[in-house]
Amino acid sequence: MKQITYFLFFVFFQFLSFGQSISGLVHLTLGNPSKAITNVTSSGNYLLVKESYALSYNNASKIPNWVAWHVSKDWIGGDVKRSNNFRKDETLPDNWIKIAPSEYEDSGFDRGHMCPSGDRTKEKELNSETFLMTNMIPQAPNNNRVTWRLLEEYCRNLVDQGNELYIYSGAIGIGGEGSYGYANYIGKDSILVPHYIWKIILSIPDGENDIQRINNNTSIITILMPNNQTVNERPWWYYTTTVDELEKRTGYDFLTNISFSIQEVLESKKFEKE
Ligand code: MN
Ligand code: MN
Repeated sequence: MKQITYFLFFVFFQFLSFGQSISGLVHLTLGNPSKAITNVTSSGNYLLVKESYALSYNNASKIPNWVAWHVSKDWIGGDVKRSNNFRKDETLPDNWIKIAPSEYEDSGFDRGHMCPSGDRTKEKELNSETFLMTNMIPQAPNNNRVTWRLLEEYCRNLVDQGNELYIYSGAIGIGGEGSYGYANYIGKDSILVPHYIWKIILSIPDGENDIQRINNNTSIITILMPNNQTVNERPWWYYTTTVDELEKRTGYDFLTNISFSIQEVLESKKFEKE
């Protein structure tokens, strides 16, 4: 008994010492696709768990590998204004470079949120957290402001209609087209400009015990969009793909907390918009 108590304290203080949030673990309900850990030696795959989202940060590319978050009526529909307080993420290890918002200025790329500000409108602090630079990638303006934004709005409509969502979003490849043309890196610290931006949206009706309610009929939308200025010539649903395809391209394993047989069905599903 004593040992168990010591163990629980140990686990608890591990979280405290990294300034991580236990409640933030809800965002990893479906799994940790790259087995990210919060350890300085894991600099290419460093886990950050926040109240608003969880992510794997890459200290080489200076952008997240993926960001995961839960969104339901508990997170949106308040009157919190867009914080706009883009800032360095000081929770990264001491000797790592922390990207400043100014490094994106005059780059031709937007500071593109992975977990959107609009998905966190219930509490000021939670909205503010989405403006940490570890939640950003250099995103082509026509992607961020048009096609990607419309996809984000589609997701919030699903929530308004009585669903809760588990979302993963991230970037792959190098080189994108911004408003001043093509670039592989931006800023004095060489922030990688991704070639593609992807998103996985799993949607279930509002309820409890989410994992148990996921079955072969669960709705899943998987998107892979080029990070360029012509992406907006087509609607977001033109860019549908499968989780299987994203697993192949990223090397990650998504949805690991779902039973293998259901995982197989959902991961080969391709969304078709009615
Ligand atoms: Mn955006
Ligand atoms: Mn999988």
